[in-house]
Amino acid sequence: MAADDLMDFEEVLQRYEPVIGLEVHVELSTATKMWCGCSTDFGGAPNTRTCPVCLGLPGSLPVVNERAVESAIRIGLALRCSIATWCRFARKNYFYPDMTKNYQVSQYDEPIAYDGAVDVRIDGEPFTVPIERAHMEEDAGKLIHMGGTTGRIQDASYTLIDYNRAGIPLVEIVTKPIYGTGARAPQVARGYMEFLREQMRALGVSHARMERGQLRCDVNVSLMPKGASTLGTRTETKNVNSLRAVEQAVIYEMRRQGALLAAGGRVKQETRHWNEGGFTLAGRSKEQAEDYRYFPEPDLVPVAPDPAWVERLRATIPEHPQVRRERLRAAWGLSERDFGDLLATEGALDAVAATVDAGCAPAAARKWWTGELARRANEQGVALEDLPIAPQDVADVQRLVDEGALTDRLARNVIDGVLAGEGSPAEVVAKRGLAVERDEDALGAAVDAAIAADPGAAARVREGRTQAAGALIGAVMKAMGGSADAARVRALILEKLA
Ligand SMILES: [Zn+2]
Repeated sequence: MAADDLMDFEEVLQRYEPVIGLEVHVELSTATKMWCGCSTDFGGAPNTRTCPVCLGLPGSLPVVNERAVESAIRIGLALRCSIATWCRFARKNYFYPDMTKNYQVSQYDEPIAYDGAVDVRIDGEPFTVPIERAHMEEDAGKLIHMGGTTGRIQDASYTLIDYNRAGIPLVEIVTKPIYGTGARAPQVARGYMEFLREQMRALGVSHARMERGQLRCDVNVSLMPKGASTLGTRTETKNVNSLRAVEQAVIYEMRRQGALLAAGGRVKQETRHWNEGGFTLAGRSKEQAEDYRYFPEPDLVPVAPDPAWVERLRATIPEHPQVRRERLRAAWGLSERDFGDLLATEGALDAVAATVDAGCAPAAARKWWTGELARRANEQGVALEDLPIAPQDVADVQRLVDEGALTDRLARNVIDGVLAGEGSPAEVVAKRGLAVERDEDALGAAVDAAIAADPGAAARVREGRTQAAGALIGAVMKAMGGSADAARVRALILEKLA
């Protein structure tokens, strides 16, 4: 249990300025590992996805995964970084059984990407997070400490090792110290992680699932007394694996350090661990600088990306989903509520965007995807994008409605046919005979019959009370099985009763 004294959060803010920093590991979703052909699939029996290279056996030699370098460059570009024209890998030497080689291949003073910035939205307001660097490295194996109560090495009786994860490509993204957050420090940390998670998925470089360790965050926190200009001593809380925990870890460290400093103590520079109970625990002390004896990796050639290639990759960087949402919200002119519904329906934003691109009005596209189609997807227990109907089909159906060739009811019938695999909307209309009745003789006869059946309504329309035509239109629509164009029926009724 945590036994730390904690200062009230508000008091911390009155007395100190928090400075945070985030180091984020992104596990890339390449098919194979960083230096060998082993699969990167999640799970699998322990140590089955290994080979002499990722087990670091003598005589094995690594070959860099080009796709991983490409992903790292694309991440760097998305973070508005400069891309190195020439950089090397470096050996980070340490002795620990999660790496059989006794070193991890990383990058040291020559990162592939450096000096960037991203704009994170906090309560609708942009906050700029400065990026120091993004570098490539390999993941380590996973140690599972057995026999204890905490899952930590201290009280374990033995440890299991799984090297399936060893050698999976990582990109580590390091921010510069983030100043000026004040009370928003916890939200900025969380908002930044949300931003990265969406960014990685939009780039298609990582599944970025925090619960699977595909996006891992180390949170640095220090406090400066108000008015001071030198940074306080920071702590680094490791492997904070949920958005909520990122926020909580910042709050906890601010409160703990505030109490410690106010009592005349000093913050120890150390690694801490996030405990799901809602507190941090001291780990390794970092008071002596760790000496990893970095040196350039002799088994790998330097990475010197062709500037033309980098420019081609720059063209593949998608708009950040947050930016895209804001742009579409403005462009489509939907109400806050309608746009909110759209965001709340999984997959609907992309579907509506594609339907709008296919020529449909945004309001109509939204109505189809968040209404009728969301209901069908729900009934069938499938994702919206897995419904067997293309955005183009939805746009085509709506076009037929707009042209007066389909009523809403007929349009739903056409959607049924498309979902049932009967073909395109035009084919379904033809096969099911769903076109709006355009036979003027048949329409005229139905109108005459409706007028004869309801002389009272007909008389009122003759007197100029045109709203009475509603009852007659309803009767005609019913007689035609919904296949008549209501506007045309209304015009005919008014013409006949003029
Ligand atoms: Zn391997």
